[in-house]
Amino acid sequence: MGRVIYAWPVASSRRVTTYEVLLDDAGTLSCECPAFIFCKAGQPRTCRHVREKHAEAVEILRRFKAGLALPPKPTLAPAPRMPLKKAVGDGLVDAIAAVEL
Ligand SMILES: [Zn+2]
Repeated sequence: MGRVIYAWPVASSRRVTTYEVLLDDAGTLSCECPAFIFCKAGQPRTCRHVREKHAEAVEILRRFKAGLALPPKPTLAPAPRMPLKKAVGDGLVDAIAAVEL
């Protein structure tokens, strides 16, 4: 692993944990998730996060090598919210009660 030039926060499949996908100055992507770390011997080391970021990584590496500014480090999209009940009559009260619980 060379010098890390970029990192993306990514969520575990159940969004319980956050990992980082790292890109180094040699163009190598790595990930902190178990699928990447504990890959089977003889298998190419990858995971769905690395595959997800591959196209972006190509562009970032291109910018890095051209001496261009890299985009700001992305933040993780918030977890999807539970849908609130319809805000009609008693439903509104239910929705507020659910939030406060
Ligand atoms: Zn991963």
